[in-house]
Amino acid sequence: MQIKTRLTLLYTSLIAALLLAFALTVYFISAETREDEYFKRLKQQAATKASLLFDTKIAPNVLQLIYKKSPNALFQEEVAIYDTSFQLLYHDAVDIDKVKETKGMIDSIVFQKEIQFYIGDLQVVGFLYKHGDSDYAITAAAKDDYGLAKLAKLRNTLIIAFLISIIVIFLVGRFLAKQSLKPVSALIDKVKSITATNLDLRVDEGNRKDEIAALAITFNEMLNRLENSFDAQKQFVSNISHELRTPLTAMLAELQLTAAKDRDNKEYKQALHHIIDDTQKLVRLSNSLLDLAKANYDQSEINFKKVRLDEILLDARNDVLHNYSDYKVNINYENENDIALAINGNEYLLRVAFINLIENGCKFSPDKHSNVLITSLSSGITLKFSDHGIGISKEDLPHIFNAFYRGDNKRKAEGNGIGLSLVQKIVTLHNGVINVASTINEGTTFTVKLPF
Ligand code: ADP
Repeated sequence: MQIKTRLTLLYTSLIAALLLAFALTVYFISAETREDEYFKRLKQQAATKASLLFDTKIAPNVLQLIYKKSPNALFQEEVAIYDTSFQLLYHDAVDIDKVKETKGMIDSIVFQKEIQFYIGDLQVVGFLYKHGDSDYAITAAAKDDYGLAKLAKLRNTLIIAFLISIIVIFLVGRFLAKQSLKPVSALIDKVKSITATNLDLRVDEGNRKDEIAALAITFNEMLNRLENSFDAQKQFVSNISHELRTPLTAMLAELQLTAAKDRDNKEYKQALHHIIDDTQKLVRLSNSLLDLAKANYDQSEINFKKVRLDEILLDARNDVLHNYSDYKVNINYENENDIALAINGNEYLLRVAFINLIENGCKFSPDKHSNVLITSLSSGITLKFSDHGIGISKEDLPHIFNAFYRGDNKRKAEGNGIGLSLVQKIVTLHNGVINVASTINEGTTFTVKLPF
């Protein structure tokens, strides 16, 4: 069911329940008041008739004649007077006799002093009347045609007013719900028109204050993120193609040139070495890309366990020295503490990150030296990878963590620009942070903070 319809029905049923309660209260209070007043009126009329008989001594047949001759005799109260031993002393019309008194009825009047009851539509009151020293039981009966008609009219009016009100409330409710949900419908239409090809479109943020505006703003923010990641993906793919194409083109050219004519052994060897170099570049690139893909996994998909950072660092150093025998790597510890060097992490990824930072330090330094300092603090472990190399320019510093970005100093060393973005992803995956400080021709320090 649509929210619009649900709101309207909810609103209508709530008001309908209130209106019904109100109408029922009005009706039942009116019905009770009418009944009470009519019983009272009956009793008064009967008492007046008894007084005419006993005090004014009007002859019974005169009173009977008045009763019979009155234009609406049928609706007039019919009075009967008995003494306490069920002797009939007066009756307005014995032939009509609406009440048909019994001895039991007279006894309960004597006993209870007053009784009220219904015979069909007829309201009957019986009460004890005192005259001189004697008690008389009087009954009076009549139908309150006028009051009942008024009550029926009230009931019909209430029913009609109730039904009309419900229809009006339903229509107004529907209109209001439609009005207040109009921006949502507009939002839906706009969202429908946004696809992968026009991710630059944004929904209208309205007054930027109410809940719907908050929804639109949140949606636009989500679109911004989507668009950025879409662009980043596109950029990433084109960068990869470019990175792959350069060594492949070089290899192809080398092969074509070598194959163009007969060459001596020395020339073939030289060509093979060039091709091996390019192939190694490709292998490094595909390894980095594989690592980057792993670092992009969700934390839950990566195997985390207690690992010792000092051991991983030593492994990383060995790997680097194995590949580049001319590099030098110093590892130093501050406030060395066995337990405090263990964190919850992924050994493989951390080794990849450390190798990248150590390699960068060495390859961008004329002395091929990289220093690592491990400090164990109460909050976590800090690792400083520093070198006395060529440094990074101020312009490059904000971009070096972007995938495929290579600084102005790239001519000094080979690379593909993936290393630091990979390092940053790995550090973030371990809930850590990485910072860089660098001065041209003095050196660079990367500080990695990993929490326990
Ligand atoms: P790559 O080393 O393959 O170029 P990285 O992502 O590892 O890619 O580094 C990005 C850029 O940051 C490098 O091209 C270089 O300009 C700069 N950089 C990183 N580490 C250092 C360092 N220790 N000294 C000087 N420049 C560095």
